[in-house]
Amino acid sequence: MTNRTFKVGESREQPSLLPPRIEDYVGPDNPVRAIESFVCALDVAKLGFRHADRGAEAMGQPPYDPADLLKLYLYGYINQVRSSRRLEREACRNLELIWLLKNLRPGYRTIANFRKENWKALKAANCRFVLLARELGLVGGAVVAIDGSFFHGDASKASIFTRKRLAEQIAKLDQEIEAYGKSIEDNDAAEAKQPRKDRADGPDAGGGGDGGDIGAKVSALMAKRSRAQADLDRLEASGETQLSLTDPDARLLVKSGQGVAGYNVQAVVDDKHKLIVASEVVNDSSDVNQLHAMAKAATEALEAESLQVLADAGYYSSTELKACEDDGIVAYVPPPEGNGQVEKQGRFGLKNFSYDAAADAYRCPVGELLRPIEGRWQNTSGRTEIRYASRVAVCGKCQLRARCLSPKASRRTVSRWEHEDVLERHRARMQSADADTLMRRRSALVEHPFGTLKCRAGYRHFLLRGFNKVRGEWSLMALCYNFTRVLNILGFEGFAACMAKVFRSLSRALTAASSCIQLLLETFWTNMPVWLPIKRFAPSPVG
Ligand code: SF4
Repeated sequence: MTNRTFKVGESREQPSLLPPRIEDYVGPDNPVRAIESFVCALDVAKLGFRHADRGAEAMGQPPYDPADLLKLYLYGYINQVRSSRRLEREACRNLELIWLLKNLRPGYRTIANFRKENWKALKAANCRFVLLARELGLVGGAVVAIDGSFFHGDASKASIFTRKRLAEQIAKLDQEIEAYGKSIEDNDAAEAKQPRKDRADGPDAGGGGDGGDIGAKVSALMAKRSRAQADLDRLEASGETQLSLTDPDARLLVKSGQGVAGYNVQAVVDDKHKLIVASEVVNDSSDVNQLHAMAKAATEALEAESLQVLADAGYYSSTELKACEDDGIVAYVPPPEGNGQVEKQGRFGLKNFSYDAAADAYRCPVGELLRPIEGRWQNTSGRTEIRYASRVAVCGKCQLRARCLSPKASRRTVSRWEHEDVLERHRARMQSADADTLMRRRSALVEHPFGTLKCRAGYRHFLLRGFNKVRGEWSLMALCYNFTRVLNILGFEGFAACMAKVFRSLSRALTAASSCIQLLLETFWTNMPVWLPIKRFAPSPVG
């Protein structure tokens, strides 16, 4: 196909003592052959893997083929081997890996660098697998569920500081420094009281012997305080709320009273076979701003014209719901109960007032209209609201005023978001008969991949640091989850047949592309003298 030069493994037909051929190391239906067939069907250069498009003329030591290293990682992540050093060891002793890599034995640095440097290509490979699942009809593309789960980062809770924590640390260090300072003063005073002879007898003779130690301790504390102050200044200058000293992008995430130093992984799961069709790694504890971004990513991955998206109450956000509706995404998110402060005071709440769209007014429990007041207001979450108010004269005579107005108010006001119609449609959708069934399906759908990855594979933490690398590692986890699932659904033979089909079409495409290029070149060279009239100049006379 091409003239690329890569390190070349031993032939699988090469005779050896035991077993006779590498080809005999694995059985004909060993799942490792599925990894081989999938990676062979990938166009690694198009996915952006480093060195994939290295030309034959390139100088120096040939690199490992990225396809081989991808096979190694896929095998490792499917079999719960993630560390580069363990992968290096397994490549030397594991017969399946020896077969897969044709006895290539990359060092741990090469293995580790591949995962770090190819995070974008790993994401692309994950997307390519989703596309493949779509082509195989394994994705429904009509209903998806979204959820987030915390994964530990390569950082401890102690390495992440908030402003409050840094300020407390500085205050504590100040106290300790002050206490040591006082102790030095006391020592000096005690020394001054002692007769000169006793002081000359050495450190054991009096309290002055500890002075040097205390001085060193105070210096260490001062240095620690300077570092804490520098961290606090850095945090304030960045505008961030947390500062992580080991992994700069990991954050202290808290949900339901439990804290994790790491990342929040968002996944969108298709309802047909529970495959992850879109995912992202963020470092925000809350899911509230993720609904639209994740739903949009799923729509693009599935190329769906309309998509039903199911999410839990943590994703409820009026602005996110509006963004979904604008993009033709039908979201099902349980609305929050609300704190019911007004109802708790025994007064009518918002649900006792009905909106009359034709009159653009609210109707109160006794049927009086609340009309819009001129102007717009921004609430604490930045939404623009319109206020509707009743008439003072009407409320003054109302029998129910004690149940409606606060003690100091003379009229009732109700606020309405400028796009409240979006929420009204959403509320009506959530009260429909379908909503209950869909919400029950939601948890069964989206808990499956997280449960499988965390409990079966034991992937509760990332080995890499920083958003890009962590996103690359997550792509590997998601790819392995999808890969194993598709393999289970299709069975080994079905999977191999599908891959062979994809590989044939890829080869056909490459052959077609290369003949096209050849034809173009031939046409160019044939017609060049016509297109570019080249004048022949008579040689100039010599001398
Ligand atoms: S107090 Fe005013 S707004 Fe409230 S129920 Fe009576 S008339 Fe309606």
